[in-house]
Amino acid sequence: MGSDCESSVVLVTGGTGLVGQAIKYVVENGSGRKNEKWIFGSSKDADLTDRASTEAMFLKYKPTHVIHLAAKVGGLFGNLSANLEFLRKNIAINDNVLAMAHKTGVQNVVSCLSTCIFPDKTTYPINETMVHNGPPHDSNYGYSYAKRLIDILNRGYNNEHGRNYTSIIPTNVFGPEDNFNIQQGHVLPGLIHKIYLAKLEGKPFTVWGTGKPRRQFIYSRDLARLIIWVLREYKETEPIILSVGEEDEVSIKEAAEQVAIAMDFKEGFLFDTDKADGQYKKTADNTKLRKYLPEFQFTPFPQALKETCDWFVENYQRARK
Ligand code: NAP
Ligand code: GDP
Repeated sequence: MGSDCESSVVLVTGGTGLVGQAIKYVVENGSGRKNEKWIFGSSKDADLTDRASTEAMFLKYKPTHVIHLAAKVGGLFGNLSANLEFLRKNIAINDNVLAMAHKTGVQNVVSCLSTCIFPDKTTYPINETMVHNGPPHDSNYGYSYAKRLIDILNRGYNNEHGRNYTSIIPTNVFGPEDNFNIQQGHVLPGLIHKIYLAKLEGKPFTVWGTGKPRRQFIYSRDLARLIIWVLREYKETEPIILSVGEEDEVSIKEAAEQVAIAMDFKEGFLFDTDKADGQYKKTADNTKLRKYLPEFQFTPFPQALKETCDWFVENYQRARK
């Protein structure tokens, strides 16, 4: 990889998901290189919770590089309802993918953690050194501990086998091809879908919780460009936070207002405070990213939201919901 002329085969696990499809989009729109072959895998290629199925996929595609995105992913309410399943599936997927990458000689793997795995009781902003400092928020302990183990696996493969296995830590991601399921998905696709339905009925929509929690959101296509940079240029084993700045953190209420504008919805919204708020905030520090890429331009939030809302409306029939 990098600027040399050697050809490479990049396998993206979870290639049919929100982030995988964003990588496909940017690769096809200027970020791909002639000497790279990209494969976007899905659960149809292999059930990555199964060792033999995972091995067969690695033997079939013979990747030289892996971007490992496949995971059981859900929003706050999906996690609350199935912590044990999130833990077990993700532990199995991550162990199988890294073991088979190593066994088949893959030198570079970039795997995906998340800012929601950070300690619940912490100081802010949170940085890369703090991943293991204390228990995660109770609402998603299963997903969090499974994800934290990726960092430990990377340490082992690097220390004992000299592999370049690393990880990224994105904040809440949104964009085209998201999971717009209201019960299971994340807040922005959930709100977009709710507003779409409220528009049909001419009624206000409901924001779950108090609207007070704060989040940093990253557009999937920005994240995709950053992940490709990590694969090509980032040499550290330790994770790197991929996030907008602290100043771009917004409350859920502000996010709901922005989604309403992007959807051209004027009926207003209500709060259902019987629903959980989840972690109040997980403000991430992007100093490390900015040291490497001081000039990187994030798409402005209103523009990224508009592109996402337009995609959902245009692709309503086939969108995951
Ligand atoms: P997503 O849209 O839910 O996509 C999940 C992907 O994983 C799909 O391609 C799915 O394949 C694949 N997959 C799930 N179980 C599998 C299995 N047993 N075997 C093979 N493939 C399997 O997820 P995403 O939002 O793009 O997330 C990508 C990565 O980013 C994940 O590691 C996630 O933890 C991380 N992340 C996401 C967010 C966020 O806000 N979305 C935030 C931080 C970090 P099928 O399409 O065939 O089902
Ligand atoms: P988190 O960032 O990991 O907690 O996951 P989410 O993306 O699910 O964001 C959850 C935050 O948004 C919580 O404070 C929720 O109470 C709030 N929220 C408001 N409305 C919704 C909604 O329709 N769906 C989801 N998933 N969360 C919502």
